[in-house]
Amino acid sequence: MGEIAKKRLRVLVTGGAGFVGSHLCDRLIGQGHEVVCLDNFFTGSKENVEHLLPNPRFELVRHDVTEPFRFEVDRIYNLACPASPPHYQFNPIKTVKTSVLGAIHCLGLAKRVRARVFQASTSEVYGDPAVHPQPESYWGNVNPVGLRSCYDEGKRVAETLFMDYHRQNGVDVRIARIFNTYGPRMNPEDGRVVSNFIVEALRGEDISMYGDGSQTRSFCYVDDLVDGFVRFMEHEGATGPMNLGNPGEFTMRQLAERVIRLTGSPSRITFRPLPPDDPRQRQPDISLARATLGWEPTVALEEGLLRTIGYFRQKLGLAAPWKA
Ligand code: NAD
Ligand code: UDP
Repeated sequence: MGEIAKKRLRVLVTGGAGFVGSHLCDRLIGQGHEVVCLDNFFTGSKENVEHLLPNPRFELVRHDVTEPFRFEVDRIYNLACPASPPHYQFNPIKTVKTSVLGAIHCLGLAKRVRARVFQASTSEVYGDPAVHPQPESYWGNVNPVGLRSCYDEGKRVAETLFMDYHRQNGVDVRIARIFNTYGPRMNPEDGRVVSNFIVEALRGEDISMYGDGSQTRSFCYVDDLVDGFVRFMEHEGATGPMNLGNPGEFTMRQLAERVIRLTGSPSRITFRPLPPDDPRQRQPDISLARATLGWEPTVALEEGLLRTIGYFRQKLGLAAPWKA
């Protein structure tokens, strides 16, 4: 990490102005590569990559992946897709189009220019899992007609397309199943649990717990995830699917309590209805990533939360308003 790569690559990052994408662009530029960042700014923003704009090796293109695109590149990271439930459910038909057409356009381009192509898939392909923790061999428990289906099934079809282009056309693919990731540059209005809890705590508002807070998630700090992305992309001969996430598993109640303690907030927890099809538990089995890439997360939840809290304090100008 941080070292300059031996060979300068031309890299396309779709969804590059989003939370994870902007960190990936940082990493690739830091390694000396050329980066084209393609985004329609639905959930991402120019602000996330503003600091890269003066770099001659960085280009920002406003474009929607549901429309074809063409670039001469060596690598394609396909991250374009809203990731938070409120955003992907805002226009579910568009979410399916983004996943499916976006995958087809990336794969078609990869085939034409002989690029290696990486798909940001998700632990949501496991649905509400009946197997715990989830290994890649588990086929999942997904509702095909529910509110989360546009995202879950869209990502599942994208995985199918990646494997079919690989088998049928020899396209060099990487499929990463990403588990809940958090860190600086999450959109404060995004609706995901880590950003919601931190923003509520910093504002001294009630923490909105959906359900009784006994459901679990496993949270990976964004720098660890990006490290896994780059290692996987540059590893020869492994298509995946491969889980990337932090196996540390927490209930949402534990998360809320930790955020309250780390922010020193007077916020209290309030309970709201659990959204339909909300998975009960989630924890990655990362044996494959450990064995293949020698990768595992290094940032503990407490440390990652402190960094993320620092980011939101600065971004929202919320030192500790309840003390003012
Ligand atoms: P994000 O919403 O911050 O980023 C998604 C980016 O894609 C945004 O910049 C958005 O504007 C862009 N985008 C959306 N639709 C587009 C379209 N039609 N054309 C072009 N750009 C489009 O989310 P994120 O957390 O950075 O997630 C990045 C990727 O990783 C997504 O594909 C997501 O499904 C996947 N993922 C993320 C997590 C996580 O916990 N962060 C977990 C599993 C999978
Ligand atoms: N959640 C919550 N309060 C919030 C946002 C989310 O209790 O303000 C819960 C949500 O119901 C789920 C978990 O936190 O059980 C993780 O939600 P998120 O939307 O971050 O990710 P996903 O459900 O897609 O894993």
